[in-house]
Amino acid sequence: MPVYDYVVIGGGTAGSVIASRLTEDPDVSVAVIEGGPSDVDREDVLTLRRWLGLLGGDLDYDYPTTEQPRGNSHIRHSRARVLGGCSSHNTLISFKPLPGDWDEWEQAGAEGWGAESMDPYFSRLRNNIVPVDEKDRNAIARDFVEAAREAAGVPRVEGFNAKPFHEGVGFFDLAYHPENNKRSSASVAYLHPFLDRPNLHLMLETWAHRLELEGTRAKGVHVRTKEGEEVYVEAAREVLVCAGAVDTPRLLMHSGIGPKADLEALGIPVVHDLPGVGENLLDHPESVIVWETDGPIPENSAMDSDAGLFVRRDPASNGPDLMFHFYQIPFTDNPERLGYEKPEHGVSMTPNIPKPRSRGRLYLTSADPAVKPALDFRYFTDEEDYDARTLVDGIRLAREIARTEPLAGWLKREVCPGPEITSDEELSEYARKVAHTVYHPAGTCRMGASSDELAVVDPQLRIRGLDGIRIADASVFPTMTAVNPMIGVLMVGEKCAELLAEAATLGGEA
Ligand SMILES: Cc1cc2nc3c(=O)[nH]c(=O)nc-3n(C[C@H](O)[C@H](O)[C@H](O)COP(=O)(O)OP(=O)(O)OC[C@H]3O[C@@H](n4cnc5c(N)ncnc54)[C@H](O)[C@@H]3O)c2cc1C
Repeated sequence: MPVYDYVVIGGGTAGSVIASRLTEDPDVSVAVIEGGPSDVDREDVLTLRRWLGLLGGDLDYDYPTTEQPRGNSHIRHSRARVLGGCSSHNTLISFKPLPGDWDEWEQAGAEGWGAESMDPYFSRLRNNIVPVDEKDRNAIARDFVEAAREAAGVPRVEGFNAKPFHEGVGFFDLAYHPENNKRSSASVAYLHPFLDRPNLHLMLETWAHRLELEGTRAKGVHVRTKEGEEVYVEAAREVLVCAGAVDTPRLLMHSGIGPKADLEALGIPVVHDLPGVGENLLDHPESVIVWETDGPIPENSAMDSDAGLFVRRDPASNGPDLMFHFYQIPFTDNPERLGYEKPEHGVSMTPNIPKPRSRGRLYLTSADPAVKPALDFRYFTDEEDYDARTLVDGIRLAREIARTEPLAGWLKREVCPGPEITSDEELSEYARKVAHTVYHPAGTCRMGASSDELAVVDPQLRIRGLDGIRIADASVFPTMTAVNPMIGVLMVGEKCAELLAEAATLGGEA
């Protein structure tokens, strides 16, 4: 039976950071259990601009959503099955979470996670985070930035991570190498340089399906290797669950850790009743408006969605409350299902809800670990209809931007929803039915005060009521960051590594 000091389940975004930091100490042994293959030498994975081609393919767990009566029931949630996790197939838009995001976490019971305490972890990140390179700045994206600045009345931002902002438009910071369009994912930045460390053991294409506990102490994990062999991997110090916002609660529940009644109903023996597991499912839904352009647009780009806009409609909000990605492609996957055409040449603006109020739930439907869990995001179900109204405001603003030069000169006609759709009701109906996800599920094992019954981990990321086991990934987010979450996940990884080092120095583990 293999025994390592630490067993990291999931060599994804946060897991790569933790494994890398722990193995800086040559006396510490770490096993990484990763469901997917290596990304080393995989040009299809490592080339940022090929991200769209990875979705739905062999390297995607591809989770469906349950029926969404007020939204789009056809959304599929891509989750990467490859070293580096979602940082190996995402668009690598890189935002340090805003001070208001961290402070909200602290107010939600995550003591020690306020903005001031979290700031130093950003500067520790090993990823190459740089603004979209000049050569990658497409002429139409540049003109979107100018038109949005004018129409939305917001400042132009050069380097969104330079200082906190409430509003602004500009080119994103990306975690990439502009000279060759290669990713600076979690695996590239944190694992590739250290693959020869003798104390780092990668178990690739190996699936963790049940945690092993002795009383309240986590001992290890049962895995199935690529060859179909059942192996038990033990942790001498701690188990770190880093399988992401879908697979972390899934693994916990299959191990008997979760809401007692739900587990019993499926015949899963309850090991530890933890009602918050799978609750608080968050996402960043967005809608889309598509224009046909007057002919082809130039082809240069980092990844086809290189610029964006943040607006604060409510001055009392502690951050932006409406966001847009600008796509240099006609993004019509969902509108086409409703009968809309795809123009040969076009662009899209995607109104996005930075702080959505609807809360969903992830749950099991079977005791068989091979059956995918159910993801019920309950999109657009918040009582005040805030989420849907945000999209309606977004479509109206997008139209103003489209009417403004220098963008207006490029655009031939609005394809979806089309200029005849103008009332709030019609716009809301359209916006919700074509809504897609930007793949930011989070919150399903949320962090909170140790007295909070629905918290799954405490502010040291330890699972409530258990020893020797922590969670570090997007599932611990108490609330959604207003900005894209990957940098927040990497910072969770850095902070977790520090918590582990502190615990080891004190001589006691979780
Ligand atoms: C298409 C797409 C685009 C995105 N674009 C952006 C963006 O531009 N900017 C941004 O900030 N965010 C973006 N995101 C979101 C961001 O990538 C994620 O929030 C973040 O990477 C999640 O990190 P994680 O560590 O929680 O999980 P992951 O990175 O998903 O890591 C989980 C790892 O665990 C492994 N795993 C899961 N279950 C098991 C198991 N049982 N056994 C063994 N291994 C297992 C998986 O294979 C995976 O490697 C995007 C996401 C997607 C999918």
